[in-house]
Amino acid sequence: TRIVVVGGVAAGMSAAARARRLDERAQIIVFEKDRYVSFANCGLPYHISGDIRDREDLLVVTPDDLSRRLNLEVYTEHEVIRIDRVAKTVKVRDQRNDSVLKEHYDKLILATGATPLRPSMPGVDHPYIFTLRNIPDMDAIKAVVDAGVFSAIVVGGGYIGVEMAEALRRRGLRVDLVEQSDQIMASLDPEMSRDLAYHMESYGVHVTLGKGVREFRGEDGRVEVRLDEDDVRFADMAILAVGVRPEVKLAREAGLEIGRCGGIRVDVHMRTSDPSIYAAGDAVEVRDAITGEWTLMPLAGPANRQGRIAADHIFGRESRYRRSQGSSILKVFDMTGGGTGVSEKSLRRAGIHYRKVYVHPNGHAAYYPGTHPMHLKLLFTADSGHLLGAQAVGFDGVDKRIDVLATAIHAGMTVYDLEELELSYAPPYGSAKDPVNIAGFVAA
Ligand code: FAD
Repeated sequence: TRIVVVGGVAAGMSAAARARRLDERAQIIVFEKDRYVSFANCGLPYHISGDIRDREDLLVVTPDDLSRRLNLEVYTEHEVIRIDRVAKTVKVRDQRNDSVLKEHYDKLILATGATPLRPSMPGVDHPYIFTLRNIPDMDAIKAVVDAGVFSAIVVGGGYIGVEMAEALRRRGLRVDLVEQSDQIMASLDPEMSRDLAYHMESYGVHVTLGKGVREFRGEDGRVEVRLDEDDVRFADMAILAVGVRPEVKLAREAGLEIGRCGGIRVDVHMRTSDPSIYAAGDAVEVRDAITGEWTLMPLAGPANRQGRIAADHIFGRESRYRRSQGSSILKVFDMTGGGTGVSEKSLRRAGIHYRKVYVHPNGHAAYYPGTHPMHLKLLFTADSGHLLGAQAVGFDGVDKRIDVLATAIHAGMTVYDLEELELSYAPPYGSAKDPVNIAGFVAA
C-alpha cells in the first residue's frame, strides 16, 4: 500500500505514525509545505514568553528521526498543489527549486489544518501585524520582541489571543487586548470568562471588549489600529488572532464534499466523499457531541485522534470518530479557565431545554495552604439530569475537574452519578467532598 499524507503536523503525523505501526511494509510519504514537521504548535506562545527557553524543544522530531525510527519518507518544503482523483496522483511543488513532481497514492490523507484569518481591511498587510500558526511565525514575532519593542495590540480574545497577550506582557510590553464581542474566550459563557478578563487587567493587560477593528494604518513604523467608535490605538506591533479557517483549497478543487461550516466533510472513519481519500484535523468538520450539529473544533486532541482513526480504517480497523466535545483549557497568568461539552449560549441557540447550577468550592481543602475558590458551572438536561456541559474558572485544580467532567459527559453520566463518584483525596489535592461531587449534590 502506498499512503500519501498532506500536512506533517498533528493529524498528518499521527496518521503516518499509526499507519507504520499497523503495516511494516507500507510506503508512507508525507509532504509538508513548511520547513518543519511535527512541531509543538501549542507551545509557540510559551517560547515567545520565555517559559520554554530552548526553541529546539518545540521541534518534537525531525524528518531524519522519522525516517530512522518509523521508516517514513518525509519531504518538507513540498507543497501538494493538485489531486487527480482519477489517476490517483498528487502534484507536488518542491519549493526549494520550484520543480514539480507527481506521486501516486493508493490512499491519500489530507491533514492540511487551518489558516489564521486575516480579514480583508485596509492596512492589514502592515509588516508589524502578525498571525501565529507555525515556527516561522513565532520566530518573526519573537525577533521583534527581542529587538526591544515597547507595546503590542492583540486583536482577538480567543485562546491564541489571550496566550499571546500574556506572553507579551510577561516580556514587559505594554499590551492592549481588543475583542469585538462582549467577552473573551467564546467557548465559555460570559459570566464565567469575566474573572479571567479582570485577572488579565490586574496583570496590566488593557482589555477592551465590544469593539471591533475597522482598519489598520502604519505611520512612523508604528501600527495604528482604528476601532469602532473612533477609538484609535497605537503600538509597535499587532497580533491578529481572530480565528482560523479550514484549509480546504486542495479538497475543494478536487471536488470533495465541503460542509456548511467550510470544513471537509468526512464520515465516522474520516473518509471524505472519495473513499480513497481521508481527511483529519482542523481541516474537517465534526459533529458536536451534544447538539449533533456539524461544527468546527480546531483542537489538538481531536486532530491526533482523527489522524489515527484514518490510518486504522485504511488498514481494515473499524475505529470511529464519533463526535467532538470541545474540551479545552487555558492558562491566564495565575488563573485557569476550562470547559467541556456545550455552553449555555449554544444550548439556548439550539433550543435545548436545560438546567444549570453554579458552585464555588475550593480547589483543595481550605486548611491546606495555596487554594482558592473556583467557579464551577454545570449544565444538564432538565428531565433526566444528563450532563451537557461544564465550565470552571479558578486557580488550582480546575484542569482536573474539567477532565473528570469531560469523562463523565463522554460516558453519558447524569448529575446523580456525579454525587457517587469516588475521587482521590488528600488535603493538598482536593476535599473529601470533591467539587465534582458538590456540583452533583447541588444539581440532583
Ligand atoms: P496543523 O497542525 O495546522 O498542520 C497542518 C499542516 O499542513 C501545516 O503545517 C501546513 O503547512 C500543512 N499543509 C497545508 N496545506 C498543505 C499542502 N497543500 N501541502 C503540504 N502541506 C500542507 N489546540 C489545543 O487543543 N490546545 C492548545 O493549547 C492549543 N494551542 C495552540 C496554540 C497555537 C499558537 C496554535 C496555532 C494552535 C493551538 N492549538 C491548540 C490548535 C492545534 O495546534 C491544532 O488543532 C492542531 O495543530 C491541528 O492539527 P492539524 O494537523 O489538523 O493542522
